Amino acid sequence: MKKIVLSLIILLISITSYSQSFETKFAKPLSQVLLEISARFNVKLKYDVDTLGKVVTYADFRIRPYSVEESLTNVLSLFDYKFVKQDDKTYKIKNYEYPRRTAEDGKKMLAYLNTLYKDSTEWNARKVCLRKEVREKLQIDSVLKKRVQSKPIISKIRKFDGYSVQNFAIETLPGLYVCGSIYSPLAGGKHALILCPNGHWGNGRYNDDLQKRFGTLSRMGATCVSYDLFGWGESELQVTQAAHQTSEAHVIQIMNGLTILDYMLTRKDIDATKVGVNGGSGGGSQVVLLTVLDKRFTAACPTVSLSSHFDGGCPCESGMPISLACGGTNNAELMAMFAPRPVCVISDGKDWTASVPELEFPYLQRIYGFYNAGNKVTNTHLHAEGHDFGPNKRNAVYDFFISTFGLNAKKLDETKVTIEPKEALCSFGVKGEKMPANAIRSFSDVEKYFTKKNNAKVSSDIDISIRAKTWVETLQLNDKEKESRVQTVISNHLKAVRDWHNSHLYTTIPEGINTITGRPFDNLDREVIANSAKPKSVHEALMKGLRKDLTEEQVEKVLDKYTIGKVAFTMQGYKAIVPNLTQTEEAYILNQLKLAREQAVDFKSMKAISIIFKIHKTNIEKYLNDNGRSWTKMFKDFTNKIKADKEAKKKVTEIE
Ligand code: ZN
Repeated sequence: MKKIVLSLIILLISITSYSQSFETKFAKPLSQVLLEISARFNVKLKYDVDTLGKVVTYADFRIRPYSVEESLTNVLSLFDYKFVKQDDKTYKIKNYEYPRRTAEDGKKMLAYLNTLYKDSTEWNARKVCLRKEVREKLQIDSVLKKRVQSKPIISKIRKFDGYSVQNFAIETLPGLYVCGSIYSPLAGGKHALILCPNGHWGNGRYNDDLQKRFGTLSRMGATCVSYDLFGWGESELQVTQAAHQTSEAHVIQIMNGLTILDYMLTRKDIDATKVGVNGGSGGGSQVVLLTVLDKRFTAACPTVSLSSHFDGGCPCESGMPISLACGGTNNAELMAMFAPRPVCVISDGKDWTASVPELEFPYLQRIYGFYNAGNKVTNTHLHAEGHDFGPNKRNAVYDFFISTFGLNAKKLDETKVTIEPKEALCSFGVKGEKMPANAIRSFSDVEKYFTKKNNAKVSSDIDISIRAKTWVETLQLNDKEKESRVQTVISNHLKAVRDWHNSHLYTTIPEGINTITGRPFDNLDREVIANSAKPKSVHEALMKGLRKDLTEEQVEKVLDKYTIGKVAFTMQGYKAIVPNLTQTEEAYILNQLKLAREQAVDFKSMKAISIIFKIHKTNIEKYLNDNGRSWTKMFKDFTNKIKADKEAKKKVTEIE
């Protein structure tokens, strides 16, 4: 009995204490919870985050007595924090990083990806999806379209032992340049090309390790192109370093690589059947992406970079959500898309590539196996080494390109390479003193190509320029300057009409009655009214500009382009409907149609343009009625005649 009473009391106490604590949600400060975890599991916690004011609800319930890592996960996930294991007794608490996961996560992801394709047919279908969605996620195509097609600026050639170096600058987007150096073998003839996107190495592309690699590869017979990261090196002078830490850098660097490839493949000294790409760290991320986007590459060598659980921590590698393509992907899968072309993955034991021999390499081998090309994928793993582009990594690069491109191994000697100072490798001078006049000097001038609203405007501007150019071409002016002036006049007018239309919506016009139809305004009526209110100067600038360079006949041709030839077409209609049209009548009709055309050019939509013609057609019909004709009768006769003709034709066909 006593026992039962005691149990009841305990039960009552625990119920009371439970309900009290439930209201407080068993909350404790995060700092206290972490101290308790540290003590309980005897581990040291380092902090990259601020715990001040953060509260953990149900704190003690989140602890798993058998696992420090599960306990940390349960607590930290509340705040979008995570931990990184530094050694058996040390954990670092960090903010959640979407591009960085764990090797365990990489393993699970690769296992999942492997379930998506059991043979080359299924793999090919996956590739189609990835190719499409990676492009879309990167938003590369809209930027590629905006590129200017100008000739590269090339410096004088500097000759060294067995190779030469020449600096270049290519304008990509208007006023934006990518600068770099081309390392070429001294021997004549065609050479293999190796594109060398830069990683985040100290001193950028002027780094000694990199110069050794480019010089040595070119001594052995390959032309190497080294170029700046966006916001690094000479690009820094245009947009500052801060511009590198943006998602735009992700897109621009790839645009730079593809633009340089385009240029290099126009050169006579390049063998287009041997196109390699090699880069370390962030340069390796570019290797993967470039090969996904362009099929012209024939060999790839990502160095201390490729991983199934790390996309690259810089916005220039993971700023755009390419890893979300096709339900989720990673750099290992994107590199596998290169199969069956030769790829060499260089990895080390002290960064995120430490898992390559166990995870990424077997995964790649499986995919290459779909093509019976298992021997085309290799892995040089430097277990004792860390994250750098040191001699052993470079030797692995040399070996790969010697075997893949047949480079001359006898010329492998890094001591023969001349390390040049930064000054020598700059196209525009260390301070940008030789920068072209049109060079942009701020990142905001680049950003305009990327924001959605501006993107739409820039695309529309481009469409307008193309339209104006095509119209002017039909005039066959045979005078470049004149053509350019007329194009500008038309483009400016089309843009002014568009901008007015977009900023003066029909909804700003109140309800009312259309005096011609007698019905309330519809949306199109209101659009026409809103567009009609634009300043006369818009129209005057067009007409004045056109008349300055064109004959009256040519001016009319341009106006006909705006109105898709409505004057001639409508005139034909009147000639068919009105029997024995007199010269006076014809002159009146033509005059009205030309008036309609000149008014109509200031309207954006074809529907609004038709409304303007309709107004003048009403005038014409009234004029005909006032001068002894009956429009209704003529129109009825005309339609009856058409019907009769049709019937007659049908009968003829039946008899036949
Ligand atoms: Zn970066």
